[in-house]
Amino acid sequence: MRMPVRFISTRAAPGSAADVSFREALFRGLAPDGGLYRPLNQPNLKALFASFSPLASFQELAEAVCRELLSGELGSSAVSRIVRRAFPFGPALRPLEHGLRLLELFHGPTCAFKDFGACFQAAAMEELLRAEERRALILVATSGDTGSAVARAFYRRAGIDVAILYPSGRVSLLQEKQLTTLGENVTAFEVRGSFDDCQRLAKQAFRDGELARRLPLTSANSINLGRLLPQAFYYIYGFTRLAASPGAPAGPVRFCVPSGNFGNLTAGVYAWQWGLPVDGFLAATNANDVVPEYLATGVYRPRPSLATLSNAMDVGDPSNFERLLAVFSGDPRAMRRLIHGESVSDAETRDTLRRVYEEHGLLLDPHTAVGLLAARRFRENTGFTGELIVLATAHPGKFSEIVLDSVGVAPELPPPLKELAGRPKRSLPIAARFEELKGQLLSRYA
Ligand SMILES: *Cc1c(COP(=O)(O)O)cnc(C)c1O
Repeated sequence: MRMPVRFISTRAAPGSAADVSFREALFRGLAPDGGLYRPLNQPNLKALFASFSPLASFQELAEAVCRELLSGELGSSAVSRIVRRAFPFGPALRPLEHGLRLLELFHGPTCAFKDFGACFQAAAMEELLRAEERRALILVATSGDTGSAVARAFYRRAGIDVAILYPSGRVSLLQEKQLTTLGENVTAFEVRGSFDDCQRLAKQAFRDGELARRLPLTSANSINLGRLLPQAFYYIYGFTRLAASPGAPAGPVRFCVPSGNFGNLTAGVYAWQWGLPVDGFLAATNANDVVPEYLATGVYRPRPSLATLSNAMDVGDPSNFERLLAVFSGDPRAMRRLIHGESVSDAETRDTLRRVYEEHGLLLDPHTAVGLLAARRFRENTGFTGELIVLATAHPGKFSEIVLDSVGVAPELPPPLKELAGRPKRSLPIAARFEELKGQLLSRYA
């Protein structure tokens, strides 16, 4: 049997023996020392990658990679069940112009790449809980988007309940529909307060001794390893698919990643560590450019975030930077050899949205536009002649106001979201008081 991959906190002392299994990392979320879990030993998957047929489906690739990562810990049939339940959808590689392709990651249930991580995490938790005959109660505070991906991913998963806290009147109509129309195992608590209130309530719930004793409370936030690992799978898919495209290009391949919290980019770097022969990565950010700045100066200067058009990337102190630092042992020169940083302004984002529509008749979302401009700029400034794959992180229909405003054309709402319009909202209004939340949680779930 192969050695299973073990995981360790980014803050563990060198040589520390505090490594954990995938299962532990999945249910713990954050490590006890406040760090993030990262792979301790890197599997070498070069031979596996080379064996893939360029025509293999995403699910086949994901299953093969996942089996290598989790073998020893999870049986082959458990891995198959997780991957098949997680991914009834997949990515799509779309040629855009010479030497540049989009890897569309918005064909999942909430039309953004976060579906890949959330759906895998939910399917993995479901599988493990079932084997142990246990239940879980997922509690999340959301300002809109992340919560809807989580709610949708855990919807109808056996043995799992979901309680979402969202600020009343402060999420978009579409986001509210996504949170409140699922029902069944998903309950939306509509908090009379702000997003900060929701976060405070959730944090207090996780610290409360009585709730910990009486409820199987579990977090599902974006730093969870179960969200990160599956994001590596689509880099492998994009790379493999490229070989199958007409006039299969032989040059070096670079991925361009629109980034905020840097989970997506970190997952790509993991795929590279496992042996995916990529030439490098572009970290594309909006005005929140702490990482491009670090790559240029070697100094990391976290700061409060700035509001931009690509608001899912408005992060001033990306949590996954710790994981990136761990890969390169904190050496900016080593990171620079693999990752190039570019930052894009709002005006440039709008301009790119307009140009791409003029040139290709294609509407992008503002996050993908940041990535596309970064990729084009990189090509022009460095004379790179290889292949660029830009991650298309969201469907333009999720950002229709910005797209309409910039291009003058309104994108269609994608079908999974269109469907929600007619569904009735069901929420449970509560005050922003911990005792009220606690009472509700105990009466519903204890
Ligand atoms: C979350 C998000 C990003 C940023 O991804 P990170 O993993 O946080 O870097 C980019 N685009 C969209 C549409 C997102 O929702």
